[in-house]
Amino acid sequence: MTKKQGEFIRIDKNLDFIDKFMRKEECEMGYIGNHLSASKGFLAMGKQITKLGGNTFAFFTRNPRGGKAKEIDEKDVEEFLAYKEEKRIGALVAHAPYTMNLCAAKPDIRSFSKEMFLDDMRRMEFLPGNFYNFHPGSHVGQGTEAGISMIAEALNEALPLAEHTTVLLETMAGKGSEVGRSFEELRQIMDLVECRDRLGVCFDTCHTWDAGYDLVGNLDEVLKAFDEIIGLDRLKAVHLNDSMNEKASHKDRHEKLGQGRIGADALKAVVCHPALDGRPFILETPNEDEGYAKEIALVKGWMEQE
Ligand SMILES: [Zn+2]
Ligand SMILES: [Zn+2]
Repeated sequence: MTKKQGEFIRIDKNLDFIDKFMRKEECEMGYIGNHLSASKGFLAMGKQITKLGGNTFAFFTRNPRGGKAKEIDEKDVEEFLAYKEEKRIGALVAHAPYTMNLCAAKPDIRSFSKEMFLDDMRRMEFLPGNFYNFHPGSHVGQGTEAGISMIAEALNEALPLAEHTTVLLETMAGKGSEVGRSFEELRQIMDLVECRDRLGVCFDTCHTWDAGYDLVGNLDEVLKAFDEIIGLDRLKAVHLNDSMNEKASHKDRHEKLGQGRIGADALKAVVCHPALDGRPFILETPNEDEGYAKEIALVKGWMEQE
């Protein structure tokens, strides 16, 4: 079933799509955490998130600016997996390095990016059942269509290696030549991918706002558009960030919760929206530990009020 582009702009007050999520017997547990440094390994990250009060977390699969990944320490992974179960930590949302650009104009950057991507897929298999999120890429003047086909091509090579991982395309702010600035662009990538059951989307609140989606004025309409164009069952994780800039600014500057242009009320509505129940919410706000602990407590408070 292909949805026509732009179909979502139709003004339709029928919000049946929300009802289907509200009919569930009980609410799933809420998962909240933040992006952590992976330098001391998985068990250390697990203990750190417990200390901060969270029950999920994100981490870079390798140096965000560099290339070479540390060897996986199988003993650390084993100990972490036991800890994860004991503390009921939810699915993790790993983040690809920023240097990975699957639709770069330079062939050497493109092939280096694909190598990182494939290697990350193999590494994620040590931690089955988690998410791997990446920025679709920047087409650097080649055009969106060319970018989309290069990203899909890389996904078609990578997904067969990701037997126990769900790969997530992140919604982007539309800075420079970023691909993935609209739900339609993400859908176009997904349409070209074969193993679609292992592919989803990570919804970044700062990015979607900066891209022009009105999370403050009409969250229902934004989620309805997502449902019509991609399908809410594909929305697997949320990056919960406020934004330093106005809607449609295409800037991508994250702000602490409640201190930016999205604001606490709109972010609370995202966290408590029935259509997003049970998703991991990851903070990528400009904070140190103390700030993250406070934001985690704030979001847990919102979740409990649901
Ligand atoms: Zn990101
Ligand atoms: Zn993000």
